[in-house]
Amino acid sequence: MKIKFLGGCNEVGRSAILVDGKILMDYGMRPSDPPEIPLGSGSISPKSVVVSHAHLDHSGMVPSLMDSGKAPDVYMTSVTKELTMLLGRDTIKVGKDQGFVFFSEEDIRKMDERTHTVAYGNRLTLDGSDYVLELCNAGHIPGSSSVYLRKESEDVSLFYTGDIKMDVSRLMESASPADFPSSDILLIESTYYDKEHRNRKELEREFIDSITETLDSGGNAIVPCFAVGRTQEIVMILHSYGLTPYVDGMGLSVFSLFRNYPSFLKDAKAMNAAFSDAQFVNSKKRKKALSEPSVIVTTAGMLNGGPVLYYLKKIHEDTRSKVLLTGYQIEGTNGRRLVEEGCVETNGEIVKVNAGVEQYDFSAHAGDSELKKLVSRFCSNGTEVVFMVHGEHTEEFAAWASDNFGCDAIAPKNGEEFIIE
Ligand SMILES: [Zn+2]
Repeated sequence: MKIKFLGGCNEVGRSAILVDGKILMDYGMRPSDPPEIPLGSGSISPKSVVVSHAHLDHSGMVPSLMDSGKAPDVYMTSVTKELTMLLGRDTIKVGKDQGFVFFSEEDIRKMDERTHTVAYGNRLTLDGSDYVLELCNAGHIPGSSSVYLRKESEDVSLFYTGDIKMDVSRLMESASPADFPSSDILLIESTYYDKEHRNRKELEREFIDSITETLDSGGNAIVPCFAVGRTQEIVMILHSYGLTPYVDGMGLSVFSLFRNYPSFLKDAKAMNAAFSDAQFVNSKKRKKALSEPSVIVTTAGMLNGGPVLYYLKKIHEDTRSKVLLTGYQIEGTNGRRLVEEGCVETNGEIVKVNAGVEQYDFSAHAGDSELKKLVSRFCSNGTEVVFMVHGEHTEEFAAWASDNFGCDAIAPKNGEEFIIE
């Protein structure tokens, strides 16, 4: 089996892994301005594409593969398909503003046509090949999957975690590694290698206390969130503590979509109840949302576009107000800049933020000990080769795995290819 890494190595963003030149696992973009895309874009023509989940850094470039003589077959869960189409249409809109074009509405329509929706735990043979595919719940966002792929003729199998979480959140049931098939090769995400998550309950309490304090002092609490997963999780947390947020941006469309897929959620009723209490905002109501002490949940989670920039521009000088980031900020994004330099860029202008900035780790990724446990489980079930991807400390992670398990642990670089027999 030949594995080529086209992106997502020693970085978080633009995940893309090509197997035997014909099966592509994920095809994402890094949501910086302008977005970064996988190596070799435009020159690869896979027969099949397997999408682990709908976040842009895994799915964002899939529609661009449709613009060729032979568009590939696409495999993903039903909710991932709907989300990928929604985000694809948004990317076209963002591209019009920011001056890039990766694909068209026609490509999204074609992707819809070429997609085979896959249920967790069902094995299927990829069209015209000797590969068997299975998707397993990855516990990261609704519809997220880890990918098992087996090449029958060579008797070699791999397991690609995608983004994975082995702990429950309000929105999601956790992944269940006990149900994962064993495999010869493991490709594991590394986002939180060497970082442990805080106790979730304590974190929620601190987050809520900080918001309450902001409201009491007359400020606005701006909570930037990913549209997919994080917005819904945060609205559920606020609701459970009796806070009624304004919700702005694409997280609302994603909520409407999730409502149709209750089986992918831990507690659809709780999500619906939280949103029926929230106040929905569009561009006409933004002024009003800021006219009183308020908590505003809005996209984009890493501050690269979206209504959050409107709010930041309005509150950046108000020291009573706060920006409460809710997750990891990828290098090169506005969010990372805010954390490291205290400013953001909006419409080409650098704005210094004097409002408070706080960061909360409401991560939907496995923490350090969960990642290590997963490597341990696979290695004790016969895995001999482990690739560390999707993280900024993959080399350290690989060194840890080879020291502890004697496996062949590798931190690949973008563009590298490996042959595993
Ligand atoms: Zn993700």
